[in-house]
Amino acid sequence: MSISKNKVVQFHYTLRDESNENQVVESSNDGDAMLYLHGHNNIIKGLEEAMVGKAEGDTFSVSIAPEKAYGVRQEDRQQRVPIKHLQIRKKQRLVPGVLVHIQTEKGLVPATIVKAGKFNVDVDTNHPFAGKQLGFDVEIVTIRDASDDEIAHGHAHGIGGHQH
Ligand code: ZN
Repeated sequence: MSISKNKVVQFHYTLRDESNENQVVESSNDGDAMLYLHGHNNIIKGLEEAMVGKAEGDTFSVSIAPEKAYGVRQEDRQQRVPIKHLQIRKKQRLVPGVLVHIQTEKGLVPATIVKAGKFNVDVDTNHPFAGKQLGFDVEIVTIRDASDDEIAHGHAHGIGGHQH
């Protein structure tokens, strides 16, 4: 079986930031493999495209440009936010570079602190990976047909996917 629309794919990955000395940013190898429903934009575009036709046990590496990952950085995405509107962990230090979540009417928005004051912070709401060339090392673990429920919901069910 190979990967095509409406297959549920389980895979391990290591994500490298090719814009920053190929540093490893994230890896599933210490935990559960990722589970996604192919053809439903569950994962970034460049990775989904690279998955097509792969079989169980395949390993591959792919380099993905920002346009097919988390988008290009936009210069006008900085704003000043009252600290009380942030959702932060206890004892979280508010210093430049720290990732926080802003509480908005549309839910939580991730942002990176640019400058912190006493009552307000200046944040950048570009995705932390925006503008980055990303490298993925992927190992396909399993491939199966999606259930009707999964297709109706538009995502995979089970460990590593949606559990509800
Ligand atoms: Zn569901």
